Amino acid sequence: MDFFKYKAHQLHSLLKNKEVSAVEITNSVIERINAVEGSVKAYITQTSEAALEKAKAVDAKIQKGEEISPLAGIPGAIKDNICISGTKTTCASKILADFIPPYNATVMEKLGQDTVVVGKANLDEFAMGGSTENSGFHTTHNPWDLSTVPGGSSGGSAAAVAAGEAIWSLGSDTGGSIRQPAAYCGVVGLKPTYGRVSRYGLVAYASSLDQIGPITRDVTDAAFVMNAIAGYDSKDSTSIKADTPDYTKALVNNIKGLKIGIPREYFVAGMDPEVEKSIRQSIDQLVALGAEITEVSMPHTEYALSAYYLIAPAEASSNLARYDGVSYGHRVPGNDIVDMYKKTRSEAFGTEVKRRIMLGTYALSSGYYDAYYLKALKVRTLVKQDFDRAFEKVDVLVTPTAPTTAFKIGDKSNDPLAMYLQDVCTIPVNLAGVPGISIPCGFSNGMPIGLQIIGKPLDEETILRTAYTFEQNNDYHKRFAPLGEV
Ligand code: GLN
Repeated sequence: MDFFKYKAHQLHSLLKNKEVSAVEITNSVIERINAVEGSVKAYITQTSEAALEKAKAVDAKIQKGEEISPLAGIPGAIKDNICISGTKTTCASKILADFIPPYNATVMEKLGQDTVVVGKANLDEFAMGGSTENSGFHTTHNPWDLSTVPGGSSGGSAAAVAAGEAIWSLGSDTGGSIRQPAAYCGVVGLKPTYGRVSRYGLVAYASSLDQIGPITRDVTDAAFVMNAIAGYDSKDSTSIKADTPDYTKALVNNIKGLKIGIPREYFVAGMDPEVEKSIRQSIDQLVALGAEITEVSMPHTEYALSAYYLIAPAEASSNLARYDGVSYGHRVPGNDIVDMYKKTRSEAFGTEVKRRIMLGTYALSSGYYDAYYLKALKVRTLVKQDFDRAFEKVDVLVTPTAPTTAFKIGDKSNDPLAMYLQDVCTIPVNLAGVPGISIPCGFSNGMPIGLQIIGKPLDEETILRTAYTFEQNNDYHKRFAPLGEV
């Protein structure tokens, strides 16, 4: 049986009814990895043996009649910037090529003992990028067309789910890194409210923006994963002390009377007309399903990208100072300590990471702090106020996730600005700290298009309900990537 094609919630029912074993499911996914990984390259590290051990333990529990958690025994992929105790966590950087964390990220603790992890998924180095081309190891390929990128930075996590190399995955999103690859790979990606999910054990890129979230094949699975990972954590001082709802209760096929705002500034110049058409059709469909649409204006949207590319690199330059060849990670010997720092960091960081460290260091330096960093923080407040104002009138906002579909590998790798522009629709959401989901809503030339639904702070439930209603009235979640010539 092709269990690798199933959704997590379907497999959970089959497991509970003893119609399939966790070992059978895990073997199906491992066989799929063996068949397609050579073309997709979603993983940095594969952990098939440990996965099978876990699957056996879950089967033993089921045999004994013990309760199992919704994701128990169902193979997932974890972005390789999330720490799993005893498993290599590289952040796709040569500087951490052999780093084995001695502890689990809180999300791994919360997922629990019965979680079957088949591998650590590829990303842009330290999550800086939008295509996985910045990975220090290899580029991941989009299962819908192997000559295109899967998006990024969580490109491995999205491609694994789309290719059947994992049933669900975790990604991280600082400026779009869950939602944009989900859109490019035709799957669902949810960035929770900043503080909803603990960042403890997520290797920091830009700490005031980073959030971990699910990448799945449908909205129900996103709710499943959220139920497992959300919640306050005393180990993350930015995590929010709020009750965590049962997200599966939000899976209601009804948006009658829901107020949806369409921010006009998100239909940017240079947007692919096919993408725009598909987004507009999806909005019409939401109206037909009972939603009320209003156009809203979010006037500071056009400044969000520039503010992000000062704030994120500023935080990154500080966060990445710890990779100095001393406590852990790669070291190149030098004549003295400064020489050692220089050689280590010059050799082991990739071009994009260096670019961001330089940008960030410059923006934070004493002569430029006020002109750049502080100014960017003020813009961030204005962007947040755009959201506050919009949410006085509407329940959710609907926009494209990205202005185009997946581009060809190599197309933008020498043009950082063109790459950064892919994030225009996702970045403001991180600056404001609100939740956003991307769901498949159409195709252009055979490549998936993503619809973004943005919610009020801590209101993941309403975006899940909107997404679920849209999904249940379409069949995008039933399609499977053809995987090119494989
Ligand atoms: N593409 C954006 C960047 O390069 C977002 C990355 C992310 O969300 N981690 O910073």
